[in-house]
Amino acid sequence: TYVIAQPCVDVLDKACIEECPVDCIYEGQRQLYIQPDECVDCGACEPVCPVEAIYYEDDLPEQWKDFYKVNVDFFEEL
Ligand code: SF4
Repeated sequence: TYVIAQPCVDVLDKACIEECPVDCIYEGQRQLYIQPDECVDCGACEPVCPVEAIYYEDDLPEQWKDFYKVNVDFFEEL
């Protein structure tokens, strides 16, 4: 799955939402989140993010590794 990391916080640009073919990007209070079970790993969202907040799970920069869990947890709380 792709993951939305720290740079999205308080930005929520939403360009990614327009690109996602399966509409699996959801809006939270302070950032957007990708539903890991719905994401088809197409990568379309990654290049359109103006703040480079989106990464494939295995490519998350070290300082944002915990955002994998942050994205998963968002949907468990719903
Ligand atoms: Fe949507 Fe594709 Fe991005 Fe997954 S990788 S969130 S399916 S645009």
